[in-house]
Amino acid sequence: MAEGNVHPTKRLRLTGNSDWHACAILTDEYSKESPLVRVYLSQLESKSQISSVMQELSKLLPMEHMGLQHLKRVRQQEIILYKVKDINNQTSTKYLNSLGFSKETVEILCRDVREYDVPALPPMLRWQYELAQQRWPSKFHANKYMELLYDGSMFSEGQRIFHSKVWLLLNSISSELEHNKPCGICIDPRNDTVVALAASRTTLNPVMHCPMVLVDFVARTQSGGAWLKEFSNEFQSIYKDSDSSNDFYSVTNGIPEKYLEFIQSDARFKDLKIGAEPLRTKTTVQSAEQTTQVEDNLVKYGPYLCTGYDVYLSQEPCLMCAMALVHSRVRRIYFYKRSTNGALVTRLKLHSVKELNHHYEVFECKRKSNNECCR
Ligand SMILES: [Zn+2]
Repeated sequence: MAEGNVHPTKRLRLTGNSDWHACAILTDEYSKESPLVRVYLSQLESKSQISSVMQELSKLLPMEHMGLQHLKRVRQQEIILYKVKDINNQTSTKYLNSLGFSKETVEILCRDVREYDVPALPPMLRWQYELAQQRWPSKFHANKYMELLYDGSMFSEGQRIFHSKVWLLLNSISSELEHNKPCGICIDPRNDTVVALAASRTTLNPVMHCPMVLVDFVARTQSGGAWLKEFSNEFQSIYKDSDSSNDFYSVTNGIPEKYLEFIQSDARFKDLKIGAEPLRTKTTVQSAEQTTQVEDNLVKYGPYLCTGYDVYLSQEPCLMCAMALVHSRVRRIYFYKRSTNGALVTRLKLHSVKELNHHYEVFECKRKSNNECCR
């Protein structure tokens, strides 16, 4: 690479500079206020009535059955009875009678009833808890890890410097070797090692978006890979491969030779570690099973697909690629620019689909200097 091709401003962001900030893209249950649900409240005449009615309420109409177990039942002399939609236009008296409440309790509870809106979902984070409290007393169990994700304070300065360096590498490879195509890097976070590095290859095949190529390159480090030369004659004949296809098909260790040379010849990346952990043999896996009780599969069995790996993408992935990353069992995705058809924040948050059998964490890396920080 010619030294003169590098824009001078790029040189300013060298090692030790953490000008990117990774903001977690949280699912709606963490990022939005709880919707409200309308309930009937009963206003008691005195606090002394509470204990006598509570016994029957918790037996015949428990909060759990209404999905309201995150709320306390009582506020001063007010008691939550049930959701308005649950009683189908019956009177409260009729409804409570049908559930088997005693005459005395029905009388106490139905004396003064009004409608009121309470939070429908449990507070997941402290800010939601504080908002919920203003409406109705709620129960809350703080989740330290999620609080850190939400307020963006989970990354150390060292990790932020690493995020900045990965951006510098992605951006340099994209602009200097790949005509500004989207690029991606797979990192083994146990030791910040580059496992694979790829750029979009849609000129070879329309589905070869950058993350798809990246996943294939990771597979090659584990003696796999679907787009190896021997399987690709058909692709090559259909999609005329002026686009350095030989370089693409000959990648065996996850990193194309020209990227490797680029990294090794550039002082900015001299401290980047390169190369995936080699696939373990049957014997080493067996001995790990016998000798350790570690729960982390990456530690125990070594790499399998992208299990435990982090992926950094210059652009937010589309739905196809985001799904491929689910199938590959990626641990985290960091992306730097939003895409118009992005599937992690722009169009949808794929990682919030509960029915999927794997969920990665998603971070959008934003420039600190633009004051773009998440919160
Ligand atoms: Zn894609």
